[in-house]
Amino acid sequence: LKNADTAMYHAKQKGNHYLFFNDSMNEQAVKRLQIENLMRFGLKEDHFVVYYQPKMDIATGALVGMEALVRFITPKKGVISPGLFIPIAEETGQIVEIGEVVLDKACKDVKRWIDQGLFNGRVAVNLSARQFSLPDLTARIDLILQKNQLPSYFLELEITEGTVMDDPQEAISIMRSLSSRGIHLAMDDFGTGYSSLAYLKQFPLNTLKVDKAFVDDMNTERGCNMVDSIVTIAHNLGLHVVAEGVEHEEQLHQLQRLNCQTIQGYYYAKPLSAQEFEQFLRSQHSE
Ligand code: C2E
Ligand code: CA
Ligand code: CA
Ligand code: CA
Repeated sequence: LKNADTAMYHAKQKGNHYLFFNDSMNEQAVKRLQIENLMRFGLKEDHFVVYYQPKMDIATGALVGMEALVRFITPKKGVISPGLFIPIAEETGQIVEIGEVVLDKACKDVKRWIDQGLFNGRVAVNLSARQFSLPDLTARIDLILQKNQLPSYFLELEITEGTVMDDPQEAISIMRSLSSRGIHLAMDDFGTGYSSLAYLKQFPLNTLKVDKAFVDDMNTERGCNMVDSIVTIAHNLGLHVVAEGVEHEEQLHQLQRLNCQTIQGYYYAKPLSAQEFEQFLRSQHSE
């Protein structure tokens, strides 16, 4: 404990062990609790909104779909980043309610855009590990789709390796029940967690999303080879590939060369509010 004389330590005896709390840990715990409370209030007051980031066909530049991304807009603290509140919501379990708010709003928006003849693809919604392990997950999703009169064909769910590798056999059966409804499934952030190729081929997936970290590394030969390998594996498994976090034209050209079909990233568009996204749809439509 190098800073023992400068920082204030509170030691609490617990059996034979000492637990040390310093100010920064304390601060973190307070911040966590603050965000937890803000989220509880935010759920009541409808402070969670959905933004949409376009997914574009690399060859034609046409819109093929979008990812729904939650934004937490608080009156006092402004916008709180998902990177900050999602992990806390995962821990507290609030992610279940937040996730359903996002799914409900995404279904509502997409239904409207379909009815207006502006859109005819799929909206991708992130599904957390907590949601995935709910015993009545499929019934909950069915209910939200029905409520919004949106056929399951228009929905894609993005799940991470961590979510499915916890209990792969159970995951396969859950994924099958979602897939049998016509819902598409995407493996999100592929390559950043622990996943096994043996399972990858057993999961009823439609899409594999190459994580931004790999796209960032495409300025090196090794990095390019890595993405090349991922795309090849995906194609061998009959999966559609989406590269995320594409910011530069250079990356776009490299991905095109590697036969990646779809890209998502600031190069085309940042996540847009529903209103902005609707404008984007109209501009695509009039082209
Ligand atoms: P993700 O699922 O990997 O989503 C992609 C993230 O990359 C988004 O961050 C998006 O804004 C960002 N991004 C996209 N293109 C670019 C780019 O070209 N450059 C850079 N620098 N960033 C780019 P965001 O919206 O902050 O979300 C962060 C994470 O929070 C998401 O990562 C996802 O794991 C989680 N998340 C967001 N919305 C939801 C949700 O509704 N439910 C759940 N369970 N998780 C969510
Ligand atoms: Ca995602
Ligand atoms: Ca992702
Ligand atoms: Ca990512």
